[in-house]
Amino acid sequence: MPSSWRASHYIVAGVLVAGGLVWEGATSDAWPWRRPLTAPAIVVDAAYAEVTTRLGRREMLSDVLARGGITGRDYAAFLAAATALPVRRLRPGLEFQLRRLKTDSVASRVTVRLSPDRRLTVSRAGSDSGWVEVVETIPWTITRLRVSAIMESSLYEALDKAVADTFLPAAERRQLAWAIADVYDWEVDFTRDIRPGDRFTVLLERLESSEGERRFGRVLAARVDVARTPQYAFYFEDSDGGATGFYDERGRSLRRAFLRAPLQFRRVSSRFGSRYHPILHAWRAHEGVDFAAAYGTPVRATADGIVTRVGREDGGYGNLIELRHPNGIRTRYGHLSGFARGLRPGEQVSQGETIGFVGSTGLSTGPHLHYEFLVNGRATNPQRRDMGAGTPVPQQLTADYDAARDALLAQLEPKQPVAPPVAAARD
Ligand SMILES: [Zn+2]
Repeated sequence: MPSSWRASHYIVAGVLVAGGLVWEGATSDAWPWRRPLTAPAIVVDAAYAEVTTRLGRREMLSDVLARGGITGRDYAAFLAAATALPVRRLRPGLEFQLRRLKTDSVASRVTVRLSPDRRLTVSRAGSDSGWVEVVETIPWTITRLRVSAIMESSLYEALDKAVADTFLPAAERRQLAWAIADVYDWEVDFTRDIRPGDRFTVLLERLESSEGERRFGRVLAARVDVARTPQYAFYFEDSDGGATGFYDERGRSLRRAFLRAPLQFRRVSSRFGSRYHPILHAWRAHEGVDFAAAYGTPVRATADGIVTRVGREDGGYGNLIELRHPNGIRTRYGHLSGFARGLRPGEQVSQGETIGFVGSTGLSTGPHLHYEFLVNGRATNPQRRDMGAGTPVPQQLTADYDAARDALLAQLEPKQPVAPPVAAARD
């Protein structure tokens, strides 16, 4: 999913505040402006025939246009005119509409959606067979919406139940689930930390094109109850760039020294209870955490560190990576099928960097990652407090942050007073 378009080109047509637009569960019929998703309108004209064709995996633009009879010098003329078309960077699957006069075998108009907000049309100028291009901008409007749901089996399932297709298509709901998981990447492992019945509420931007398509934009604020304890996230961006990202109700960054899990949520099976149950995992007093995942799933370093071991171990670990972090902490990643190319002891790795891939080497009964978190040499079950403290919003920005948080909170939880909730003393 290209993310570049998400960040720019939006036309902000006014932001609807949550109060009147609360979307909860099955109240979808309440939307007055709800309408089905529609493909770009195709003009039905008896004089023309129009076909849709896609760029194949090993094809070039010339192959696609040849299907419309545009070849040779005609193709060269087309290329000369279609300056907005990135001919060498077209992705397989890209759709082209070719239109021809029914009385003619050669296409006279080619239309392609360059991005969610740009459509290119190249048409024959006239009888001299020259071509002209027109780039059309498709406006997207942003609506601010709130979604709240209870998670019974997974975050995906909860979103599927709470959000209708007409509101946000399935692929976009998945993007939303990933975005929520990304916000809480240091704080919550959505496959292990959530209990059935935990609730989440998210304030998000939903984009709608002038042609009725709907997409997820970005998360602005969220509350996730983790084993019944609320965890807030508020997006804050300082105009000077002094602070950007998600902060909790007390203005501390959700970013921590350690990620909550070495596998990215979007890469693993989502159901709660999908954790790996070792049958023959008696190779040592089990002091790690096992993550079920498919062979080859990328394994990421949970924190910045130095590689201390990389290779095959004789014990139960199989292919193992060990990293050293500050404060006497080490992390281990076992049963790997392989290592990131060129990974060597002594090398520095960054948080989130792919260091290896899930496998079933060593004493393992199926593909899974064995992850250990060692403090001063002792394996511990990493708790959220071990993830490190989040950096607070800079002192000079606290007033700005408080105002931004209060505004978001009023939309996230409109029934509650604007004052921030009392934070539980956790550290
Ligand atoms: Zn294990």
